[in-house]
Amino acid sequence: MEFISLKPGRSVEGDEIPCFRSEIKSNNYVYLMAGTHGDEVEGVYVLQELFDWLKEDEDVSLPLIVLPILNVDGYRASSRVNAHGVDLNRNFPSSNWTKETREKKYFPGEKALSEPENQFVDKLFQKYPPRFILSFHSWKPMLNFNGDCENVAKFLEGFNSYPVHSEIEGHPTPGSLGEYGPEKYQSPVLTFECPLLSEDVSLRKIWEENKVGLQDLLKSDLL
Ligand SMILES: [Zn+2]
Repeated sequence: MEFISLKPGRSVEGDEIPCFRSEIKSNNYVYLMAGTHGDEVEGVYVLQELFDWLKEDEDVSLPLIVLPILNVDGYRASSRVNAHGVDLNRNFPSSNWTKETREKKYFPGEKALSEPENQFVDKLFQKYPPRFILSFHSWKPMLNFNGDCENVAKFLEGFNSYPVHSEIEGHPTPGSLGEYGPEKYQSPVLTFECPLLSEDVSLRKIWEENKVGLQDLLKSDLL
């Protein structure tokens, strides 16, 4: 399918945040995004492979927005947080946003939506309303759904056998996209946690174990 480049966002350090929209227009869009946490190369890689496939594919006919790497400064620095030291997945202005920080790596910023990267995402959401958001991360492999998308999580579980969760016990995420998307935009969010790289787990392997499931999902009528 064909994609056009949208006007990029700007990071704290002034770098461009590339963003693409499918030529298929709609009043709401399926978002594919990665690199909210700059050190999570696994998720970035999986989306890059998926995006490369989409550009060649003729069968997918979804209105899509693709954000390959949100936290471009963090990605360059191999850092979870952005150049202000903010965890972008704790900085969205959900009603449960809090300044309280359990650990430094979860610093939510001085104010909700203080960060230019998240302001860019929110502007996109206003202009191209989301109907579903698939956000790639990496941690313990799991499919973490917020809002009405348990069916999508179960669909993918059928391919990769990652556990499906709605909330992770002992791991609250105020100000996350998973909290914000359903609340503000009535858009379900699937936080797709890839496994971490290790001696036995390569980027290639992570992509291979998810390739068919993700491709079939995008060709399905679930989104
Ligand atoms: Zn993450």
